[in-house]
Amino acid sequence: MKDSIFGLANKTALVTGASRGIGRAIALAFAQAGAEVFICSRKAESIEAAAKAIREQTGARVEWMAADVSQRQAVDQLAAEALRRMGKIDILVNNAGWNIPQAIDEIQDKDWDYLIELNLTNCMRLTRAIVPDMKKRRWGRVIHISSMMAMGSTPKRNAYSATKAALVGMARASALDLGPWNITVNCIAPGPIATEMPMTLLSKEQQEQMTQRTALGRWGQPEEIAWPTLFLASEAARYITGQVIVVDGGCLARII
Ligand code: NAP
Repeated sequence: MKDSIFGLANKTALVTGASRGIGRAIALAFAQAGAEVFICSRKAESIEAAAKAIREQTGARVEWMAADVSQRQAVDQLAAEALRRMGKIDILVNNAGWNIPQAIDEIQDKDWDYLIELNLTNCMRLTRAIVPDMKKRRWGRVIHISSMMAMGSTPKRNAYSATKAALVGMARASALDLGPWNITVNCIAPGPIATEMPMTLLSKEQQEQMTQRTALGRWGQPEEIAWPTLFLASEAARYITGQVIVVDGGCLARII
């Protein structure tokens, strides 16, 4: 697997928001595929524990740093530290993100600004900081974790849908910027995945409604996002760029 066209032998990846949920599953899948991995989240204790667990499970080199990627300065420090300690970054996954549900006439400026910074601006800033290193080797993968809420929406998802759709637009533009350096830029758009974020924000009734919307009749698991992300990161996906892969158990297939 590690040395196959679907593997990540000799690659180094940076994954944001990887102490739990989708980010952690991506870091684990990358490590299993042979990559060295640098992970971050806000809480030192939980990101250190995640790094230790992935290291023990895979034998891979896994480094960590506590960084709040809603803060511009922290993003700059994260990029510098990841490059310094790992020597190179071949694969960047902008995964950390959040949602604050507010209807259009309820939006608080501070909450809007926070989501724009975390879900969009700092994905740009981290990409901008890492891409020059990828250019040196004429090889790179940038993957933004968007959402099916980029393509459709639900009440009170204004900032969330706006930022997740913007990631898709940004991926198309930067795929064109970076194609000449053999760097691909894509998005994964997850549907309902059983992690802390939706479980905290949705009522039991809304969770059940979401189950009914899927074709498969269930919520997805974090590894079901990690595997398509691994594919996009691998050599096997080298001719895919500027795209969004929807991984939603069939939610968006349904009209009624
Ligand atoms: P999650 O289980 O809540 O995990 C979020 C991770 O990000 C945690 O490791 C958290 O750790 C970290 N994080 C949160 N804010 C951060 C910040 N400001 N700086 C650094 N790290 C931060 O959420 P998830 O469901 O895996 O979500 C991951 C991504 O998938 C998000 O972009 C989300 O929008 C997207 N997504 C999720 C779903 C879904 O159904 N789960 C659907 C579509 C899209 P700390 O708390 O320690 O910082």
